[in-house]
Formats: sequence, structure tokens, C-alpha cells
Amino acid sequence: MPHVKCLRCRECGSEYPIEPLNACEFCFGPLEVEYDYESISKAVSRESIAAGPNTMWRYHDFLPVDRELAIDISTGFTPLIHAKNLGSQLGLDKLYIKNDSVNPTYSFKDRPVSVTTTKALEFEFEVLACVSTGNLMGSVAAHGAKAGMKTMVFYPADLEQGKIQGAAVYGPTMVAVTGNYDHANRFCSELADNHRWAFVNINMRPFYAEGSKTLGYEVAEQLGWKAPDHCVVPGASGELHTKIWKGLQEFNDIGLIENLKTKMHLAQPEGCSPIVGAFETGSDHVTPVRPETLAKSLAIGNPAAGPYSLEVLKETDGTGVYAEENTIIDGIKLLAETEGIFTETAGGVVISSLKKLVEQGKIKRDEVTVAYVTGNGLKTMEAMGDFVEPIQTTPDYETFQTALAAAQKS
Ligand SMILES: *Cc1c(COP(=O)(O)O)cnc(C)c1O
Ligand SMILES: [Zn+2]
Repeated sequence: MPHVKCLRCRECGSEYPIEPLNACEFCFGPLEVEYDYESISKAVSRESIAAGPNTMWRYHDFLPVDRELAIDISTGFTPLIHAKNLGSQLGLDKLYIKNDSVNPTYSFKDRPVSVTTTKALEFEFEVLACVSTGNLMGSVAAHGAKAGMKTMVFYPADLEQGKIQGAAVYGPTMVAVTGNYDHANRFCSELADNHRWAFVNINMRPFYAEGSKTLGYEVAEQLGWKAPDHCVVPGASGELHTKIWKGLQEFNDIGLIENLKTKMHLAQPEGCSPIVGAFETGSDHVTPVRPETLAKSLAIGNPAAGPYSLEVLKETDGTGVYAEENTIIDGIKLLAETEGIFTETAGGVVISSLKKLVEQGKIKRDEVTVAYVTGNGLKTMEAMGDFVEPIQTTPDYETFQTALAAAQKS
């Protein structure tokens, strides 16, 4: 059995049983899973974790579901790559890329969704649903298919084809909602009140959020049971940023790592940066914005975990940084051309933001830095525009040599 105690309100501390609930009935604060850490620390060691499967399920003791029942399509334990080429361009000797774009559905969302699907089955839901900025729906559709559940995914109608088709292939009911993500999200909250559906990021949100902690554990383990000096994390709802930090803290608290002093930086696109905006003005309040960004996976104008992400920035001495819209593609290309990793727009935001952090002197050459690449470039092809200029040739030697010489001149 998992080492879970209860759900607890982050604001007033009220306690709730383990049920599909996400908001406190007294103060509307978000609920969070609370664990029995004494029992976790008895159950795990570095050795026991290292002997586990090469997936996120090696950390099952820190997750709110039963390992035996896991809907596991082999998510996690993705590569942590020493990015020597990109690092030397940016002036960093110890830059690492956490390449989470190689998960089963090509984004980190497989981590939270794997946990939630398992929990939804335990609660005996028949329908798995979500409201998505793009990557979530592919993951929900895939895990629902594996679990034999009906799936229903809601998304803003203007998403990239790679996200839409990449979800549709698993056979969900697709619902394109007019308006942006925030409109769709409000609508889905109403639906969640009126249907017995497991909405992974609404009524199931406390369980969903826990899956992202594994991105903290993994990096620490892969660095040889050490936390990095810096993490650079993309932010939409802000949940991923807060949960990577929660994961690192848990490892530190039970002694799997020591001396935790990671600075947790948050990267958003200029056209949708409500959390970074609040950080820059020193406000505790995140003012919603209307998203206008190329990075559709990060286009949440009213971020649910915004205030907690701000707290993490303050607590860890991290920096909130935005990438100018016209640098997102540059970031994608820079990573591809130096490290052979093709990320989506959110990754472009991270790489451009990382560059700014180095230029601002926030990250020093010899500090261990992890940049989180959370989604795959093949899903956002249209964002790249028409950038391919091939050499045109017929299949004969002369024509090719002439065309090559002309191309090399220009
Ligand atoms: C959803 C998403 C994020 C942001 O996650 P939040 O937890 O909402 O902040 C980052 N990158 C990619 C590729 C995503 O799909
Ligand atoms: Zn409360």
C-alpha cells in the first residue's frame, strides 16, 4: 500500500480523505497529498531505488498509488545529457539537459497522467478526461487506451496539428472548444461538477500533480544523488515548477540527498508570462493575462499554481525569466544544432531563458545546471515556419556539383 496519509488544504490545513477532490470546501484552497515520511524512509534507500525499473515507477514509494496497479507505458527515467556543446556556447561547464521529450507520448505529461490514470481506475471511474494546452491530451488518450477507459479530451481549437492528431490516434472523444485554454478550463470545471468523470487536471489534480515530482528525483539520482545548483523549468500552470522542488525537498528530508540549495528558475514566453510578471513587480498576486504566444503548450493566462510557483522562486532564490517571442525558434534551433535534440516551443523558451540567466550573471560557469526539455519538436512543426531550403538537383553528377557550388557561395 502507498504511504499516503490524507489530502490537506495548502491554505488552511483542513484534512480530507483520499478521494477525487481538488478544492477545500472552507477556503477553496488546493488540496495536496500528504505522506507518512517515516514509513517512506524505512521503505527506501538509494540501493532499493536503483534496483527498481528504468521508469518513473522506481519512485513508487513517493507516489499516491499502488505500484501493482500502475498503468505503466514505460514513462520516465529519461536521459540526463551533459550538454558540452551548448554549454561551451553559453559559457557553462556543467550544463545538463533533462530530455523528457522522449517519453511514450513525447512530453513530461506522461508522468502526472500515469499516476492519475492509475488512481482513476482505483476510484472506479469509467471516463478519463482532461482540458489540455496540447501535450496533456495525447498522454491522457494513450493512458486511457492502455487502461481500457473511455477518454474525452477538451482543447482550444487553434492547437498544432501534431498535438491534435497525436492525441486523436489513440481514439478519444475530441472536443475542440472555441476560445483559449482559460475559457476551456472554466468550462471543464463546470462539466466536472456535473459528470462522474476523472478530469485529470481538475477533480484529480492532487494526484496528477504528484507525478511531476519524479522529474526532481530522477535528476538528483542521475547526478549521483546530488541536487543541481540550478534548475530551469518551463511554466504554464506553474505546477511542474513547484513539484520538481517538492521532489527535491522530499529526497533531502529523508536523507537520499544532502545540502539542498537548488535555485529553481521559472521560464515563460513573453506573450504569456503572468508568474514572471508578478515575480518582476515583487507582487504576491498573479494577475491573469490573455495569452498571445507561439508556445501554445505554455499558454495558460490564469495559472492555478501561480502563487505557489512564486513562493518557490522566493524560497529558493530563483529567478522568473521570460523569453522574447522572437527568440523561441532560436532556442529550438540552438539546442538542435548543438546537442541533436529537437524540442518544441516550450523547450525553445527554456533554452532562450537559460541564455538570459547566464547573461544576467545568475548562473556561473562551474555551477551544475539542469535545463528541463519537456516536449518534442515533431509536435509543433508549424511553429518553425518554412525554414528548409534544400539544394534542388536531378540525380546526375554535373547538376549536383553545380547546385552545390551555388549553394555554398550564397
Ligand atoms: C504542460 C507543459 C508545461 C507546463 O506545465 P505546468 O505544470 O502547467 O506549468 C511545460 N512544458 C510542456 C511541453 C508542457 O506540455
Ligand atoms: Zn482550506
